[in-house]
Amino acid sequence: MLYHDGIISEENKDLIDQIRMNLKIEDLPVTVFMLPYNSDVLTAQLVAHPDGGYFILISSNVNEKLTQDERKALIAHEMGHIAYTSKIHLYDLDRTGLDICADIFASKYAGIDAVLSLLEKLYTLDQDDREVPDYKIRKAALEAIKKIW
Ligand SMILES: [Zn+2]
Repeated sequence: MLYHDGIISEENKDLIDQIRMNLKIEDLPVTVFMLPYNSDVLTAQLVAHPDGGYFILISSNVNEKLTQDERKALIAHEMGHIAYTSKIHLYDLDRTGLDICADIFASKYAGIDAVLSLLEKLYTLDQDDREVPDYKIRKAALEAIKKIW
Protein backbone atom coordinates (compact mmCIF):
# COMPACT_ATOMS: atom_id res chain seq x y z
CA MET A 1 0.00 0.00 0.00
CA LEU A 2 1.45 3.26 -1.17
CA TYR A 3 0.58 5.44 1.81
CA HIS A 4 1.00 3.03 4.70
CA ASP A 5 3.76 5.11 6.30
CA GLY A 6 1.78 8.32 6.12
CA ILE A 7 0.17 10.01 9.10
CA ILE A 8 -3.36 11.21 8.53
CA SER A 9 -3.75 14.82 9.66
CA GLU A 10 -7.06 16.10 10.98
CA GLU A 11 -5.77 19.69 11.11
CA ASN A 12 -7.77 21.99 8.83
CA LYS A 13 -10.57 19.42 8.57
CA ASP A 14 -13.17 22.19 9.05
CA LEU A 15 -11.56 24.20 6.26
CA ILE A 16 -11.61 21.19 3.92
CA ASP A 17 -15.26 20.44 4.76
CA GLN A 18 -16.23 24.08 4.15
CA ILE A 19 -14.52 24.09 0.75
CA ARG A 20 -16.03 20.70 -0.18
CA MET A 21 -19.46 22.12 0.67
CA ASN A 22 -18.86 25.28 -1.37
CA LEU A 23 -17.63 23.22 -4.32
CA LYS A 24 -20.59 20.85 -3.91
CA ILE A 25 -18.31 17.83 -3.64
CA GLU A 26 -19.39 16.70 -0.15
CA ASP A 27 -19.57 13.14 -1.48
CA LEU A 28 -15.85 13.14 -2.33
CA PRO A 29 -13.56 12.54 0.67
CA VAL A 30 -10.35 14.54 0.97
CA THR A 31 -7.69 13.01 3.20
CA VAL A 32 -4.49 14.79 4.24
CA PHE A 33 -1.41 12.64 4.69
CA MET A 34 1.87 13.74 6.20
CA LEU A 35 4.54 11.68 4.49
CA PRO A 36 7.66 10.74 6.45
CA TYR A 37 9.65 11.93 3.51
CA ASN A 38 12.61 14.23 3.81
CA SER A 39 14.72 15.43 0.96
CA ASP A 40 15.95 18.69 -0.46
CA VAL A 41 12.87 18.84 -2.65
CA LEU A 42 9.75 20.14 -0.94
CA THR A 43 6.61 18.24 -1.76
CA ALA A 44 2.92 18.98 -1.49
CA GLN A 45 0.68 17.21 -3.97
CA LEU A 46 -2.96 16.70 -4.70
CA VAL A 47 -3.68 13.24 -6.07
CA ALA A 48 -6.99 11.74 -7.11
CA HIS A 49 -8.25 8.40 -5.88
CA PRO A 50 -9.49 6.19 -8.75
CA ASP A 51 -12.78 5.58 -6.91
CA GLY A 52 -13.36 9.28 -6.29
CA GLY A 53 -12.02 11.63 -3.69
CA TYR A 54 -8.57 13.06 -3.19
CA PHE A 55 -5.43 12.77 -1.13
CA ILE A 56 -3.37 15.79 -0.18
CA LEU A 57 0.18 14.57 0.41
CA ILE A 58 2.54 16.82 2.34
CA SER A 59 6.12 15.88 3.12
CA SER A 60 7.01 16.19 6.77
CA ASN A 61 9.90 18.55 6.10
CA VAL A 62 7.46 21.05 4.60
CA ASN A 63 4.92 20.61 7.33
CA GLU A 64 7.38 21.12 10.19
CA LYS A 65 8.54 24.48 8.91
CA LEU A 66 5.18 26.08 8.28
CA THR A 67 3.11 28.14 10.69
CA GLN A 68 -0.50 27.20 11.32
CA ASP A 69 -1.67 29.94 8.91
CA GLU A 70 0.77 28.77 6.24
CA ARG A 71 -0.43 25.16 6.58
CA LYS A 72 -3.98 26.42 6.17
CA ALA A 73 -2.90 28.29 3.03
CA LEU A 74 -1.19 25.16 1.69
CA ILE A 75 -4.28 22.98 2.22
CA ALA A 76 -6.51 25.66 0.66
CA HIS A 77 -4.11 25.86 -2.30
CA GLU A 78 -4.34 22.10 -2.91
CA MET A 79 -8.14 22.30 -2.60
CA GLY A 80 -7.96 25.06 -5.21
CA HIS A 81 -6.60 22.51 -7.67
CA ILE A 82 -9.78 20.46 -7.12
CA ALA A 83 -11.86 23.59 -7.75
CA TYR A 84 -10.21 24.14 -11.11
CA THR A 85 -10.09 20.55 -12.40
CA SER A 86 -13.54 20.89 -13.94
CA LYS A 87 -12.73 24.16 -15.70
CA ILE A 88 -11.64 22.87 -19.09
CA HIS A 89 -10.66 26.28 -20.49
CA LEU A 90 -7.94 26.52 -17.86
CA TYR A 91 -6.15 23.52 -19.32
CA ASP A 92 -4.31 25.93 -21.60
CA LEU A 93 -2.51 27.32 -18.56
CA ASP A 94 0.90 25.92 -17.70
CA ARG A 95 1.71 24.63 -14.24
CA THR A 96 2.59 28.09 -12.89
CA GLY A 97 -0.70 29.48 -14.21
CA LEU A 98 -2.67 26.70 -12.53
CA ASP A 99 -0.74 27.29 -9.30
CA ILE A 100 -1.56 31.02 -9.43
CA CYS A 101 -5.25 30.09 -9.80
CA ALA A 102 -4.93 27.81 -6.77
CA ASP A 103 -3.12 30.59 -4.85
CA ILE A 104 -5.99 33.00 -5.55
CA PHE A 105 -8.46 30.35 -4.46
CA ALA A 106 -6.42 29.78 -1.28
CA SER A 107 -6.40 33.54 -0.59
CA LYS A 108 -10.18 33.48 -0.37
CA TYR A 109 -10.11 30.87 2.39
CA ALA A 110 -6.79 31.41 4.19
CA GLY A 111 -6.22 35.12 3.49
CA ILE A 112 -3.88 36.57 0.88
CA ASP A 113 -1.17 37.39 3.47
CA ALA A 114 -1.02 33.75 4.63
CA VAL A 115 -0.59 32.61 1.02
CA LEU A 116 2.14 35.22 0.42
CA SER A 117 3.86 34.10 3.61
CA LEU A 118 3.63 30.46 2.46
CA LEU A 119 5.16 31.30 -0.92
CA GLU A 120 7.97 33.26 0.71
CA LYS A 121 8.64 30.33 3.09
CA LEU A 122 8.66 27.76 0.29
CA TYR A 123 10.90 29.98 -1.81
CA THR A 124 13.35 30.31 1.08
CA LEU A 125 13.32 26.61 1.96
CA ASP A 126 13.36 25.09 -1.49
CA GLN A 127 16.70 23.68 -2.52
CA ASP A 128 15.43 22.58 -5.92
CA ASP A 129 16.58 25.33 -8.30
CA ARG A 130 13.92 24.49 -10.87
CA GLU A 131 11.17 25.45 -8.45
CA VAL A 132 12.55 28.82 -7.38
CA PRO A 133 11.38 30.97 -10.32
CA ASP A 134 7.94 29.38 -9.98
CA TYR A 135 7.51 30.65 -6.40
CA LYS A 136 8.88 34.05 -7.43
CA ILE A 137 6.38 34.42 -10.26
CA ARG A 138 3.50 33.23 -8.10
CA LYS A 139 4.42 35.67 -5.32
CA ALA A 140 4.72 38.57 -7.77
CA ALA A 141 1.32 37.68 -9.28
CA LEU A 142 -0.34 37.56 -5.88
CA GLU A 143 1.27 40.83 -4.78
CA ALA A 144 -0.14 42.46 -7.93
CA ILE A 145 -3.58 40.97 -7.25
CA LYS A 146 -3.43 42.09 -3.61
CA LYS A 147 -3.47 45.72 -4.78
CA ILE A 148 -6.93 45.26 -6.29
CA TRP A 149 -8.14 42.53 -3.87
ZN1 LIG B 1 -0.23 23.77 -6.77
